[in-house]
Amino acid sequence: MSRTTVFRATQWVVVLMTAALVVWAAVAHDPRFFGYSLFFSGLVLVASFLRIEAGEASVTFEAAVVFGAIILFHDPDVALVAVFVGCGLHAFYERRKLVALLEPAQLALSYFLVASLYTSAVARDARPMAKVSGYVLLLVGCVVTQLAFASLRRWFDSDVSPVDFRPTLAAQGKTLLLLSPVVGIEVLLFANYGIGGFAIAFLPVLLVAYAMRNESDAERQNAELVRRNRELSILTESSTQILSAEGDAETLKRLMALLSKLAHLKACAVVTWSANPDLPGTVYRFGECLPSDQEILRWVDHAGFAESAPSRAFVFRDEQRRFPLSGGGAIQVLIGIQTPEVIYGILIFETDDSSILKTGSLNLLTLLVNQTALSLQDQLLQSEMRNKTRELEERASTMSTILEVSNSLIGSFDLDGALTRIAQAIRTSLGFEQVVIALLDQKRNELTRRAHAGLDAVWDEAKRKHIPLDEITPMFDADFRVSSSFFVSHKALRQSDHDFFVHHQDSGLMAEEWHENDLLIVPLVSADQLIGYVSVREPHDRRVPTLEKVQTLEVFAVQAVTALQSARQYDEIRRLTYIDSLTPAYNHRFFQEQLGKEIHRHARNGREFALAMLDIDNFKRINDTFGHPVGDEILKALVDELITNARDSDIVSRYGGEEFAIIFPDTPAHSARDAANRLREIIERCEFRISQLHRNLPITISIGVACYPRDGVTNADLIARADSALYWVKKHGKNQVAVAAEIPTVVQLMSS
Ligand code: GH3
Ligand code: MG
Ligand code: MG
Repeated sequence: MSRTTVFRATQWVVVLMTAALVVWAAVAHDPRFFGYSLFFSGLVLVASFLRIEAGEASVTFEAAVVFGAIILFHDPDVALVAVFVGCGLHAFYERRKLVALLEPAQLALSYFLVASLYTSAVARDARPMAKVSGYVLLLVGCVVTQLAFASLRRWFDSDVSPVDFRPTLAAQGKTLLLLSPVVGIEVLLFANYGIGGFAIAFLPVLLVAYAMRNESDAERQNAELVRRNRELSILTESSTQILSAEGDAETLKRLMALLSKLAHLKACAVVTWSANPDLPGTVYRFGECLPSDQEILRWVDHAGFAESAPSRAFVFRDEQRRFPLSGGGAIQVLIGIQTPEVIYGILIFETDDSSILKTGSLNLLTLLVNQTALSLQDQLLQSEMRNKTRELEERASTMSTILEVSNSLIGSFDLDGALTRIAQAIRTSLGFEQVVIALLDQKRNELTRRAHAGLDAVWDEAKRKHIPLDEITPMFDADFRVSSSFFVSHKALRQSDHDFFVHHQDSGLMAEEWHENDLLIVPLVSADQLIGYVSVREPHDRRVPTLEKVQTLEVFAVQAVTALQSARQYDEIRRLTYIDSLTPAYNHRFFQEQLGKEIHRHARNGREFALAMLDIDNFKRINDTFGHPVGDEILKALVDELITNARDSDIVSRYGGEEFAIIFPDTPAHSARDAANRLREIIERCEFRISQLHRNLPITISIGVACYPRDGVTNADLIARADSALYWVKKHGKNQVAVAAEIPTVVQLMSS
């Protein structure tokens, strides 16, 4: 059984006991006594209407009647009947419920108690001074029993908060003292004029009540002024405190601090939720907030405050408290922290301070909360603005990188250099740790990694490993398509020896988190033909890239295509500038330039190289016999044969007419002689098919070889020495190779 139940029972016992005592008193006394008692009850009823509320204390003026009656009749029963009937009638008139009798019963009992003490301590016929002393006992006893009853009540209520009895003591004491002279006059007038005199003497009570009411009104007004003042100062503070706070936590902490000035908060909690409904809310606590964060969140969630929160303060009292926060806070207030657009959170607090219920306080509370919501909105907007600015700055910097790369591509014919610059730009401006650019070798159907960023450690190996085209094409599947690129999720990949093998699975830019095996690949396309790809890995932000990022990557890919196209155009121009107009050999100009470069290069690395001059034997005769067009055919076929059979690094050029020059880089004389002789033998064996003649024509060639640096260190010297060796061969039966340094008689031969 709880204390409250015990208390209720006790109260009813008190009422019933008092009622029983009243009935017994009525029966036990003579009717005259009962008539007097009813008369006093009437006066007590009047006195009850004079009740004043002075702050915490409530004061009634029944003592003026009851004390007089006790002294005159020297019987506790007169107090019991007068108070129970008088106060009871008043209470019933006010509340029209039987419960209202609880307080009158309690009051009647307390008077009965002190009256019993008085009558047993002071004899009916005692001398006046003894009666006065007894009266003092009555005063003290009355106050003490009232306080005792109040304490008892608090004990039953389980209310352990410290109580201040001083205001009750002061108000009660003052009233009793003020009423004491009235009691004296009542006793005197009763002695002389009977009951009528008593009634007349009661009139000053009205005066006292009037004076005290005025005083208490003044006090109340004063308290009201103080409260208003406090609210005003809170209002002033709030504009600086709340609006100047940085961050949600700080703002809400300041709101709670201000609220605690408005009313003593027992407990306070603010729950805020973020824009993302999947994330749990945040709980801020203040005071003795008993439930755990999870419990508070669950409750707020259950109540659906995120969707609709009260825009005015909702107040719940005592048992009606929706979700008790503290042990004993009697009043619970709920209000949403919101602007017309967004609900940021909900504020719940509990207090014992009923002054919060005043309209002014509730308005101020609403104002503070609205101000907080505006401040939160302001902070949100500011942070959004900061993010937008940063985004714009990043975009501008990417644009300028794109521009820089574009500019650097103009006039650059170094394809690998251009691709590396693009890869590096992708890495820095789009934030991918690894970037690879690969190009397709159409003849072999393989892709070769040509440029990279962030693969330094493995680049040499990666460059060597060629990727078969059919390992890459499955990635360019409609399932993986994002804009013009392909996002191949790790779920769709299986690591193979070379790179990746794909099996179909849903992909797209779905998952937020980037997996280490995810791959974003942009095909490089020129004239509807795949010419390579750009692939990226390991985004620095570990997020699957946004569509915007993919599109920026595609801009870089277009730049790679442009670089490739201009490199190819450059090759074409080069071909037109440096290739002979009739044969596939380099032209004379290129030969001279290249010879100069080779001299320069070999001068630096200190190695030897060889130059061979080559002339067709008896070519005039072919021309004369079959005509020049046939001679031209022979020239073309000869060059084809030379290029096919020379090393890749050897440079075959047409020196002029039917004379050719071959540069053998990094080749000493004897190797050059062997190489030249091998070519000579090949040509000798070769049957040149001439379509116009429907027959094969055999030809032979003579070759003279000179070596750098032994035979000369300039173009002219080397050419002259090779030429003289060639001349020697022509003189000595043609279809041979001669090395300049091995012909001691060259000079004589030339001079002869
Ligand atoms: P040798 O063995 O001494 O070299 O005898 P040769 O007949 O080849 O004599 P030479 O080297 O002096 O031959 C030059 C001839 O090459 C002259 C010219 O008819 C022919 N010739 C030069 N340029 C061309 C060309 O572009 N087309 C054709 N069809 N013939 C050319
Ligand atoms: Mg010639
Ligand atoms: Mg010739």
